[in-house]
Amino acid sequence: MYQFRKGTELLNLCQRYELNIDEIILRCEMEESGQSREQIWDLMQDNLQVMQDSISRGLDPDLKSVGGLVGGNASKVQFYMEKDNLCGKTILKAITYALAVSECNAAMGKIVAAPTAGASGILPGILVALAEEKDYSQEELVKALFVAAAVGKIIAANATLSGAEGGCQAECGSASSMAAAAAVFLSGGSPEMSLDAGAIALKGLLGLVCDPVAGLVEVPCSKRNATTTAVAITSADMALAGIKSFIPFDEVVEAMYRVGKSMAADLRETAAGGCAITPTALRYAEHMLSQQSEG
Ligand code: SF4
Repeated sequence: MYQFRKGTELLNLCQRYELNIDEIILRCEMEESGQSREQIWDLMQDNLQVMQDSISRGLDPDLKSVGGLVGGNASKVQFYMEKDNLCGKTILKAITYALAVSECNAAMGKIVAAPTAGASGILPGILVALAEEKDYSQEELVKALFVAAAVGKIIAANATLSGAEGGCQAECGSASSMAAAAAVFLSGGSPEMSLDAGAIALKGLLGLVCDPVAGLVEVPCSKRNATTTAVAITSADMALAGIKSFIPFDEVVEAMYRVGKSMAADLRETAAGGCAITPTALRYAEHMLSQQSEG
């Protein structure tokens, strides 16, 4: 009754039942899983708590990643945010928190894969920053997470969320799309606006390759969480301003999958292309290998 696979189907359900996306996906999940509303809500609330905890942990200026390539960057932006800056507080706060979660992940801390560990900073970054800046409640944030989940569900059903299959557009691109839709929801936008924002964000990141240095989810992954967070916020603002995506959400998802399929294997998580084979990256990988063999 509340099942959907495509964005168009989701919007039809929203229209038919006069409900927003958060309620449709919640009812869909109840049907699919057989769990009660309270059970599903509690699980999502737990996810939000983990996201908030991972932000706190990632703000530690002394946190170091396993490979030593990232750590302390979230704290740098947090400090810089209080000075004269370019982006303004909301974006900088979202970037700070996105970096914090991705640095927590790189240090093997607990995070919520949203939709993957590599792209785990974007959604909490935006939601927690918006909550602080605009006074949203925990309940509103949980609802926004359901909206993000609906977008992720559609992408997973019609394309991929895996960097190994579709490049970073499938990970950070999907996360950015999910976060953009959720931000529109939080700001009172319509379901159509949410999917327009999701489409605009994913289009903006189409073709993004997966090229982790030395195969570690650190560089360029962590800073990419921050830059794609900015893409999500700007996409949400465009949709809220009334801009529609010329290419509908479902068609953008299909395009992302097609682009992923035509991407060379060395640009899909193999650390054999892109940033991963720059001289600096190769020197680091060699150094790491020599340290491991000494160990
Ligand atoms: S570059 Fe690859 S490993 Fe890193 S976040 Fe993107 S998809 Fe994940």
